[in-house]
Amino acid sequence: MDRRPATVPPLATVYGYPRQGPRRELKKAIEGYWAGRHTAETLHTTAAELRRDTWRTLTEAGIDEVPTGDFSLYDHVLDTAVMVGAIPARHRAACDTDRLDGYFAMARGTQDAPPLEMTKWFDTNYHYLVPELGPDTIFTADSAKQLAEFREATALGYTARPVLVGPVTFLLLAKPADGAPADFQPLTLLDRLLPVYAEVLADLRAAGAEWVQLDEPALAQDQPPAVLSALRRTYGDLGILADRPRLLVASYFDRLGDALPVLAQTPVDGLAMDFTGPAAANLDALAAVGGLPGKRLVAGVVDGRNVWLSDLGKALATLATLLGLADRVDVAPSCSLLHVPLDATAERDLDPQVARWLAFARQKTDEVATLARGLAEGVDAIAPQLAANRAALASRTASALTHDPAVRARCTAVADRDTRRPQPYAERAVAQQARLGLPDLPTTTIGSFPQTPELRTARADLRTGRIDQAAYEERIAAEIRDTVTFQEKAGLDVLVHGEPERNDMVQYFAEQLTGYLATRHGWVQSYGTRYVRPPILAGDVSRTEPMTLRWTGYAQSLTGRPVKGMLTGPVTMLAWSFVRDDQPLADTARQVALALRDEVGDLESAGTAVIQVDEPALRETLPLRTADRSGYLAWATEAFRLATSGVRADTQIHTHMCYAEFGDILAAIEELDADVISLEAARSGMRIADELAAAGYPREVGPGVYDIHSPRIPAEDELADLIARAVRAVPGRRLWINPDCGLKTRGWQEVRPALERMAEAARRARGDLPGASAEAVG
Ligand code: GLN
Ligand code: ZN
Repeated sequence: MDRRPATVPPLATVYGYPRQGPRRELKKAIEGYWAGRHTAETLHTTAAELRRDTWRTLTEAGIDEVPTGDFSLYDHVLDTAVMVGAIPARHRAACDTDRLDGYFAMARGTQDAPPLEMTKWFDTNYHYLVPELGPDTIFTADSAKQLAEFREATALGYTARPVLVGPVTFLLLAKPADGAPADFQPLTLLDRLLPVYAEVLADLRAAGAEWVQLDEPALAQDQPPAVLSALRRTYGDLGILADRPRLLVASYFDRLGDALPVLAQTPVDGLAMDFTGPAAANLDALAAVGGLPGKRLVAGVVDGRNVWLSDLGKALATLATLLGLADRVDVAPSCSLLHVPLDATAERDLDPQVARWLAFARQKTDEVATLARGLAEGVDAIAPQLAANRAALASRTASALTHDPAVRARCTAVADRDTRRPQPYAERAVAQQARLGLPDLPTTTIGSFPQTPELRTARADLRTGRIDQAAYEERIAAEIRDTVTFQEKAGLDVLVHGEPERNDMVQYFAEQLTGYLATRHGWVQSYGTRYVRPPILAGDVSRTEPMTLRWTGYAQSLTGRPVKGMLTGPVTMLAWSFVRDDQPLADTARQVALALRDEVGDLESAGTAVIQVDEPALRETLPLRTADRSGYLAWATEAFRLATSGVRADTQIHTHMCYAEFGDILAAIEELDADVISLEAARSGMRIADELAAAGYPREVGPGVYDIHSPRIPAEDELADLIARAVRAVPGRRLWINPDCGLKTRGWQEVRPALERMAEAARRARGDLPGASAEAVG
C-alpha cells in the first residue's frame, strides 16, 4: 500500500462520542418507540439527526477525522453481534420479522425469550450485552449499520473512520450459548469469524472508507499466549487482505503489555494507544519495541474517562516523544468519550472557579484539537490556550476546595493502629454475642426496603416545592415505622430502617460530604436508555455533621431489637463517582474513610450496636492488569478498616458485597476484618459458602438465600435447601440468614412473603442444628 509521507500534519480525532444528545433526545426517542408513542421512522430520524449534530460539533471543534459506527440504539457490542450474525436462536425469528424489534428483543427480552446477559464493559460503569456463541454458531456478515452511518457522514462531507469492536475482543467478551458446553471457548471460533470481518472491511472499503478502526480493549488485560497468538493471526490475516481499508487497531483503559510487540509486528497500518493513567507505561514500552516504523500512531493523550481538564503541557511533551516513534502521530482522547458527560458548560449552577477545571466530552474534543494544532504548527500557535490551561490548573492546585489543611493534616496523621481493631476477632465475637444475644442463624436484610412509587413521588414533590421539608420527613418517618413494624412481626433479628430517604447509596452521602459536586446534566450511559449522573469528587472530603444518625436513631427508638446503621464504604464512594486525578486514589479513599469513621463513631455513641459499611464496588474496581491489583487491594482494604476500626469490641461491623464470583479477592475480604459479611449466593447455589469454608474464613458470613433480582418469591423448600447447604459449609454459630442484596428494586407484595418465609426457614433450621436446644429454637 502507498504510505503517506512523513510530513502529514497531525490530525485530531476521537473514537466515539456520547450518544444521547444534549437533552437526552435519544433516550426519549427510544423509550417513546417502545411505548408505541411513535414510529420506527421517527426513531431513525432522531438518531440520524443526533449523529449529524455530533459530527458537526466535532468538526467545528477542529476534529479532522470523525468516527462512525460508534453510535448505538442500545449497545455497540450488541451491534457487533448483529454485524457478524451472532443472533441467539431464541431471538432469530423476531430479528427476521423486524430488524429493529428483534434488536430490542435481544437487549430487553420478550415474554418468551430472555434478553442477552448484561455485564460491565471492562472497568467502566457502562454495561454491554454479552454475545452468546457456541460450536454451532455460523457467522454471516451484515454491514448494513456500519455502511449506513459511514455513508451518512461522507454524504455530509465529513472525513469519517468507521469504528468496530475488534474480533479478538468480541470473542473474549462472549459467553457459551445455551446448549454449548459450559467450558466452550468462543475464541475457538476465530477462523470462522475472520472471513466475516474481512467482508465487512471490504464493504466499507467499497463505500470509500480509507481507514477503519478495530477496538481491542481486551488487550489491556493480561492475556495468555493463546490469545496473543489469536491476535497475531487475526491481524496477520486481515492485514494481508487485498482489498481492504487501512486498519487502525485501538486499545485503551490500560497498557498493552505483551500485546504490543505482537501488534507492532502485524501488517496493520496503525495503532491507537492510550498514554494516560496506568497506560502511560505504553510510552516506554513503545520505545522498547523500536516504535512503529511505517505505521500511524493515534496517541490517546487526553484522558477519555475522567471529567478533568488535561495538563496540555504534559500532553505535548508526551506527543513530542512519540513523534520520534512513528511515521505519523495523531491526537485523540484515550478512549471513546462515551464514558463522560457531554458538555461542562451546561453546568451553570457550578461555581465558575470550579467549573473551569472540568472537561466533559465537548471540552476534551477542544483539547485534542488544540494539541493537534500545537503539534502541527508549534506551541506558539496555541499559546493562549496553553496559558489558559496553566492558569486553570494552577487555580485548581491553589484552591481551598482541593486543599483543606485540616483534612490533609488528619490524613497524614493516620497511623497503622488507626486501621486495625484493637481486639482480635475471637474476643470481639464474645463481646458482641454478650451484647446482642442473637440466636444461631440470625436473620437480617441488606439494608434497603422497597423504594415505592409514593416515596419517589414524595422526593419529586419536595424538589418541585409541592411539599415542604417537614411533610417530606413525615413521609419518610412513616415509611420507617412501617418497615420496622413489618420486620418485628416477621421475626427478623437485626433490623434496618430501610433507607427510604436514599435515592442512591453514593449520592446520598456525596450530597452531605464536602468535596463532592453534583451536576445537573452530567448524564452518562449506564446501559441502553439508562443514564446516571455520577457525583464528582472534586476536593478534599470531610463531614460537616452526622449523616445517618437521625433516621437510624428514629428506627431504633421504635424497637427493642438492634437496628443496623447503614453506610456506603470508601471504595464504593469512589467507584461510582468521577474521582479527582490530582492525587492518588488511595489518598482520596483515605479522606472518605476518615469522614465515614466519624459517622461510625457517632453511630456507636448513639447506641448503635451493629453498623454495616457496604462495599459492593470493591471487586469491580480491580485494576485490569494483575500486577496492579495487590497495590489497589492494599489501599482499598485499608480504607475500609480505617472507616470501621475505631469502634469498641462489642460493636459489630458488617459489610456487604453483591457478587458471587469473588475467588480472586478472597484474601482481600479477609483483610477487611469485618465481623460479618453478607454476599450474593442464591443464584450460584451457595458456592460462595463452600469457597469461604475451603479458604478457612474465620468470621461470620451471610450468604444470600433469597435472589432479590427476580420478582419470584422463593418457595419455602428452596430457602430451606439453600440454608441447609450453607449450614454444611459454615458452622451455625457463624452463619447469618439474609437476602442476596438490598430490596429497593422490589415491591412490598414480593418482599413481605419472601422475608416471612426466610425468617421461618431460619427458625426451623435452628432446630435442626447439632445440639439445638428448645431455647435456641426460640
Ligand atoms: N445497603 C444497600 C441496600 O440495601 C446495599 C446495596 C448494594 O449492595 N448495592 O440497598
Ligand atoms: Zn448488594
